[in-house]
Amino acid sequence: MATTTFTKKTLGLDTIEPAVTPPPPDVAESAMARKPKMATTRSRKKDIPEGIWAKCPKCANMIYDKELDENHKVCLKCGHHFPIGARERIHSLVETCSFEEMDAEMVSVDVLKFTGVASYRSKLDAYQKSTTLKDAVITGVGMIGGHRVGLAVMDFTFLGGSMGSVVGEKITRVIEKATEKEVPLIIISTSGGARMYEGMFSLMQMAKTSGALAYHAKARLPYISVLTHPTTAGVMASYASLGDLIIAEPAAMIGFAGPRVIKDTTQAELPPGFQTAEFLLDHGLIDAIVPRTEMKEKLITYLDFMAEGRRQVAA
Ligand SMILES: [Zn+2]
Repeated sequence: MATTTFTKKTLGLDTIEPAVTPPPPDVAESAMARKPKMATTRSRKKDIPEGIWAKCPKCANMIYDKELDENHKVCLKCGHHFPIGARERIHSLVETCSFEEMDAEMVSVDVLKFTGVASYRSKLDAYQKSTTLKDAVITGVGMIGGHRVGLAVMDFTFLGGSMGSVVGEKITRVIEKATEKEVPLIIISTSGGARMYEGMFSLMQMAKTSGALAYHAKARLPYISVLTHPTTAGVMASYASLGDLIIAEPAAMIGFAGPRVIKDTTQAELPPGFQTAEFLLDHGLIDAIVPRTEMKEKLITYLDFMAEGRRQVAA
């Protein structure tokens, strides 16, 4: 009896064997290779409370949110630039308490009564609530280093940073204010382009802002345009590309139409790195690439240089 049991146990080993036997190569590639990965992801998600850590999309490192904020939303490991809100960016550039916001309460009206998948009115309400912004740009006058400047900072989280009547009007007013006060102007752009919900009214903003910039330039006042990821279409085709100095953040996508549209239209292979800040620097469309962590310091250097140039011309 005992011998039989022993034999059975030995035989039992045989039943374990199939599980240890490696599965055929194709199965091993897919199912076996994927399983442990899924398990790791699940346990990680459990361990990491939301809103404390961010995962860098470029280097996949986990970064402590507080450290990321302190580094102006730039990855400490690989330098990837995370999106940053307009208020946070203004805070990182201007001297404490020096920023006087203009037209803070200006809001868009739905002149065309536009309705697509959702009405423009409901979109505006939803974005005003979720972003706590009134529209896609914040403008005002503030001190950067020792320079008083007119400053406009766009925010991509509000309807893709699209340029409607309010964005155009606020930017025009800050340009006019800078001209009137005889101070330099800095516009930090990020935009998907014109706001389609406002049709022709959004396209008119391209001419309006460019016209105001022409008066600013005529007064021999410097304008620095800062392009951040992404700056495209109607904004790139107007004030964003009119800077006396045009600088960009690293790896920012900059262009008019998107690469997919260009590829489909021209049926041509696009060169590597097409429409990135680095590509455009190589081809002379922009003057410099400045990491966000050095932005304030570099802007002060440029403003010093341009102010000195203006003084010499005046003298
Ligand atoms: Zn990174």
